[in-house]
Amino acid sequence: MSDVFNLADDLGPLKVIHVHEPGIGLKGVLVVDNVAYGPSIGGVRMAPDVTTEECARLARAMTFKNAAAGLRHGGGKSVLLGDPKMPKAQKETLIRGFCCALQEVEQYIFGPDMGTDEECMGWVKDEIDRAVGLPRDLGGIPLDEIGATGYGLSHAVNVASEYCQLDIDGARFVVQGFGAVGKHAARFLSSAGAILVGVSDSAGAIQNPDGFDIDTLIALKADGKSVIEYPGAEKLDGDRIIDIECDIWIPAARPDVIHEGNVDRLNTRLVAQGANIPITYAAEKVLHDRGILNLPDFIANAGGVICAAVEYQGAGETAALAAIEEKLRRNTREVLEASQREQILPRDAALAMARKRVEQAMRYRRWHIF
Ligand code: NAD
Repeated sequence: MSDVFNLADDLGPLKVIHVHEPGIGLKGVLVVDNVAYGPSIGGVRMAPDVTTEECARLARAMTFKNAAAGLRHGGGKSVLLGDPKMPKAQKETLIRGFCCALQEVEQYIFGPDMGTDEECMGWVKDEIDRAVGLPRDLGGIPLDEIGATGYGLSHAVNVASEYCQLDIDGARFVVQGFGAVGKHAARFLSSAGAILVGVSDSAGAIQNPDGFDIDTLIALKADGKSVIEYPGAEKLDGDRIIDIECDIWIPAARPDVIHEGNVDRLNTRLVAQGANIPITYAAEKVLHDRGILNLPDFIANAGGVICAAVEYQGAGETAALAAIEEKLRRNTREVLEASQREQILPRDAALAMARKRVEQAMRYRRWHIF
């Protein structure tokens, strides 16, 4: 694990805690990046190759995402070394052990992330009563089931459409990755009249200029099948999803899928980032120069964490959806206004907005430096 102090700056991290319990094979790290807005929220990532450095980067991303979303929460993240597909009893032991070891760190609220889910958060709640993303049985709002992030994304797209003279009704869109984020984004956009003309998952891609029926695609996935089994669809290699001409292109799968080597293949007017870091900064610059509007991830995909924060306050699904709509619309507009006004990339405008908010909150801390 690398030296996290190489990443330290004027915002954080506040605390880096390594947890090691040899008896149960537990190795994990918690990074509390910044708590100027309140206790940090961030997911627990479980993977065999996670590092302290990755954890610190993800924690910083949460500081910006939560501040940009106007939540009363700072940013943090934790990682657990291990294969998330290990036997359930072993996983439960690790997660219970990890959260108990961090029980005293009240500046961190556990949430789900890659390799952990609602059930894991149920175990955390049982042990230390400090988790979001809980099962419905425990009063949680199942954010992937209701499509919190896809819902927010559809509102961000709606606001952005004004900035690129696009009518959502009849707009053609493409979704890379038909999981929790992608399928709900498709559902909400299609209910506003947009037409899904291309879609992919890990098995490949399909296209149809006349559009796909979203419910049929959702039913295929619910049966454990791939979108490429859609009846009569034209199949493509997964990577060809980048070439499909459309008005809105939505990455909702893996990081770094668009880079300098392939960004010129995108033939669209608006990119809305559902996935985390799906586009490299260099490729974002190319998009900007080509006049393609590009909504950065931590603005456009904040629906999930907003839902989690509302759940933590004890409110329900209706309040969560209202908060997502209000915050996503306001923040998208603020970022795009600043980007236009200052002639800068939307990501730079978003980062400046988030940093300013964190610095404002830090003025009230005991050892502020701004
Ligand atoms: P998911 O596991 O539910 O879905 C991922 C989908 O991507 C699956 O359909 C999978 O088949 C597909 N996929 C995997 N590799 C692919 C590839 N190479 N090409 C095309 N498709 C591929 O995950 P999710 O929760 O929808 O998350 C997707 C992304 O969005 C991740 O980057 C995640 O970090 C980010 N995100 C999720 C949320 C949320 O609320 N779930 C919130 C913010 C950000």
